[in-house]
Amino acid sequence: MALDATDRQTITAWFDARGGSPTCPVCKGVQWVSQDLLGLPTILDGKVALGRETFVVLPMVCVNCAYCLFFNAVLMGLNTEE
Ligand SMILES: [Zn+2]
Repeated sequence: MALDATDRQTITAWFDARGGSPTCPVCKGVQWVSQDLLGLPTILDGKVALGRETFVVLPMVCVNCAYCLFFNAVLMGLNTEE
């Protein structure tokens, strides 16, 4: 799911309310770029439930070393419906 201007404002406000950008655990950098939302498959009855329920995350990529962080998009207040 592509991010729009409202989503980007929500992301900025969410991080600002929590002290700003996280510190990269690999290179200690603090510059990140957000990617489009991802829907990760869930496990139901011990099997990967492809095409059913997904866990929607916001990937953040460190611009210095490419390390990725994933945040729960729903709890961040992002629109996960298209
Ligand atoms: Zn890094």
